[in-house]
Amino acid sequence: MSKQFDVLVIGGGPGGYVGAIRASQLGFNTACAESAAYADPKGEPRLGGTCLNVGCIPSKALLRSSELYEEANHSFAMHGISAKGVAIDVPTMVGRKNTIVTQLTGGIRGLFKKNKVTGLNGHASFAGKEGDLYKVKVGEEIVLAKHVIIATGSKPRHLDGIPVDNKVICDNVGALDFEAAPKRLGVIGAGVIGLEMGSVWRRLGTDVTVLEAAPDFMPFADQDIAKEALKLFTKQGLKITTGVKIGKVSVTKKGVTVEYEDKDGAKKLECDKLIVSVGRIPNTDGLNGDAVGLKLNERGQVEVNGHCQTNLPNVWAVGDVVRGPMLAHKASEEGVMVAELIAGQAGHCNFDTIPGVVYTHPEIAWVGKTEQQLKAEGIAYKPGKVPFMASGRALGNGDASGFVKVLACAKTDRILGVHIIGNSASELIAEAVVTMEFAGASEDLARICHAHPTLSEIVHEAALACDKRSLHF
Ligand code: FAD
Repeated sequence: MSKQFDVLVIGGGPGGYVGAIRASQLGFNTACAESAAYADPKGEPRLGGTCLNVGCIPSKALLRSSELYEEANHSFAMHGISAKGVAIDVPTMVGRKNTIVTQLTGGIRGLFKKNKVTGLNGHASFAGKEGDLYKVKVGEEIVLAKHVIIATGSKPRHLDGIPVDNKVICDNVGALDFEAAPKRLGVIGAGVIGLEMGSVWRRLGTDVTVLEAAPDFMPFADQDIAKEALKLFTKQGLKITTGVKIGKVSVTKKGVTVEYEDKDGAKKLECDKLIVSVGRIPNTDGLNGDAVGLKLNERGQVEVNGHCQTNLPNVWAVGDVVRGPMLAHKASEEGVMVAELIAGQAGHCNFDTIPGVVYTHPEIAWVGKTEQQLKAEGIAYKPGKVPFMASGRALGNGDASGFVKVLACAKTDRILGVHIIGNSASELIAEAVVTMEFAGASEDLARICHAHPTLSEIVHEAALACDKRSLHF
């Protein structure tokens, strides 16, 4: 007899595994099926999806190691610390990253056990219906489920004529596993992943060139922040060109040659390795959605409404496989929302307060609307912008680049967006998210006592600056 579940989650990434845990906590007999996209050395599918295996966590582990190396080489001296002969052993750095991945992915198996989620190993695809129940093939087995949550995530987009082998031409998977810092690295795509991976290897001494097709740098960010970022990254040595048209890419004995055109005409980039980071595509092939009539949109994503309901009763979809930003925390929020909605609760996900972060140095973080969006929508706003140079803590840290910008509604004072470029921006943005989630005004933030001396005082000052009453700038 087929196994039967109240809730079957397809995919064990941050959307799927978190949704499965929440569904089980709410009393549902829940299973989570994971194919072996990422497998441990024994061939057992690793949970955690892109995020834990080849995304958020491993990239941040490498970013931290490379940051320490750069600090030892360039920042220690100003503190009077001499650190001569600092060297980096890339296999040790990558090995540390792998240990963290193993620890965390194994940890999810433990969480499943604790929360009584049944882990199913195998690729899952729809096989029709039996009454009200969905028939899903998991590996060779047929499983029945009342509710199905599709959380199959995304995979890297590759470009025609640029064969990714993850040795010389890499996507995010190969880019996290270099054996040594290449002498010259090309990066196609100045999105979040391209900038983070480019930063890791630049810090380790690689000559990094980033080629971006869009005419503007970081069009997804507030352009004030993007301009500052371009200035700082260029000063650090990242060579960034926008408005590029990529031509022929050839693998040579020495590495890779990228032919491209920019505003000055035809050019050639010779590099030892190339990272292709031009976006990600939803994982829907192999789901056999046609067997049940699952609707996809024109971008190939599973079509959902604001509650992550698909066109089929009791079939839901969350995370990278649906519309919206491809972010782990957005995927998890949606997973929890869906589990709670299945339980008849008022599950919700506020898509207006999902923070975005780029883990470069300095970090970039934002929530809500950019200035260009507010202008385009004709919304009158009052900006409050204060640089980290005004912070004693930032100066003490020896790291005072960047600024905080708060955008408040000119009529109501409600905060509409907060944009930060600076050390610890990824942590500082949380305060802005909480304030916006509670529909707070710049006055609310301005009236909250912030510990001294902390970087968060600049968030406070930027809120005060919305009404031109900052105290330290
Ligand atoms: P995924 O994590 O992609 O998981 C989907 C899972 O489903 C996979 O394990 C896959 O094997 C499995 N699967 C697919 N099809 C099937 C099937 N038919 N049957 C069974 N299993 C299936 N986001 C952030 O928020 N912060 C970051 O710092 C960040 N850094 C990133 C860095 C890099 C280099 C990359 C590539 C991504 C990064 N992201 C980051 C994005 C983040 O990883 C994704 O948004 C997140 O993993 C999406 O979660 P998900 O659960 O929707 O899908």
